Amino acid sequence: MFPPQFGYRRAGSVAEAVDLLAEFSDRDVRVLAGGHGLLPDLKAGREAPDVLVDIGGIDDLRYVEAGDGAVAVGALTTYADAVESEALWSRATAFAEAVSRVGDVQIRNRGTVGGNLAQADPSADPPAAALASEATLVARGPDGVREVDAAKFFAGGGGTALRDGEILTEVRLPTADGAEKREAAVGGAYVKKTHPASGYALVGVAAVVTVEDGRVTDARVAVDGVTDPPRRLAPVESALEGESADADSVDSAADRAAEGVDPEAAVSDAYASGAYRVEVLSVHVRRALETALDRATGAAATPTGPPHRSAAADGGDRR
Ligand SMILES: Cc1cc2nc3c(=O)[nH]c(=O)nc-3n(C[C@H](O)[C@H](O)[C@H](O)COP(=O)(O)OP(=O)(O)OC[C@H]3O[C@@H](n4cnc5c(N)ncnc54)[C@H](O)[C@@H]3O)c2cc1C
Repeated sequence: MFPPQFGYRRAGSVAEAVDLLAEFSDRDVRVLAGGHGLLPDLKAGREAPDVLVDIGGIDDLRYVEAGDGAVAVGALTTYADAVESEALWSRATAFAEAVSRVGDVQIRNRGTVGGNLAQADPSADPPAAALASEATLVARGPDGVREVDAAKFFAGGGGTALRDGEILTEVRLPTADGAEKREAAVGGAYVKKTHPASGYALVGVAAVVTVEDGRVTDARVAVDGVTDPPRRLAPVESALEGESADADSVDSAADRAAEGVDPEAAVSDAYASGAYRVEVLSVHVRRALETALDRATGAAATPTGPPHRSAAADGGDRR
């Protein structure tokens, strides 16, 4: 199918993009980044905006920067570029692993981290990792720069906390207590059951755990592909915190994965019903926690790059 007619403007900077969004604010104006979410929607007739503001050429928004206490990823960083960052793998392992598992090579070469988060598809991989990482999303609009906690960003049905005229510019992934502590005691992982055609998550689970003196002092677990919007699994987290970092604790915590998750309201399609997704959730929570704990305790190496460079990066089933 051909997309409908639309106006097209290309922004050379974030400021110019914000100005263009303001200029067309009385029309249905949309941002275009990597195009791998929006263009399929245009072609399928699901979207018919009047004007596209193309931000894909703003190179200032392509970076992975490791700073004090956080790794910052520019919104226009492609998945392929993001997963080449060793700092992202060592300091935000769950997020790096989620990004490495998006789609296929074509999608990863063109799609952007910011576009994925802004699109807020319930079956996308990075949102759960952003939640488990307690990421901060940075937006810029006519009123300046705003920071939004990941916990408040995803609204369900593809909606986000972004306001009209705003552009997502960065996602910040906090490290636990600086890089040294993180390397010693924090582990992260993302595992998924992959849709065999599209690559989206039928079930995706991100886990970030901190282990001190053999006990889990902090556990953050989030799911995508099952609930809309993706969410943290509080019963799993509270069941694990304070417990020994061992298989029994993981089993008990994973058994609580479906608590409060309504199969009737779960994401459902022709390939996998909501009931199925909820049924296999606890298995994936267990795998994510096992991998994250092994990485935290040093029983397994934390990957330093994407799967094609590091066999240890493959924490879940692959197609
Ligand atoms: C065949 C196929 C398989 C896929 N498989 C997966 C998968 O396995 N896992 C997964 O997570 N995703 C998957 N995707 C989705 C894809 O990764 C994302 O939808 C896409 O990368 C979004 O990023 P983009 O840069 O292409 O955004 P675009 O397509 O350009 O934009 C997507 C939406 O986000 C908005 N937007 C983009 N950037 C910004 C910004 N900086 N600020 C504000 N709004 C913005 C746009 O206006 C638009 O509404 C798949 C897509 C396809 C086509």
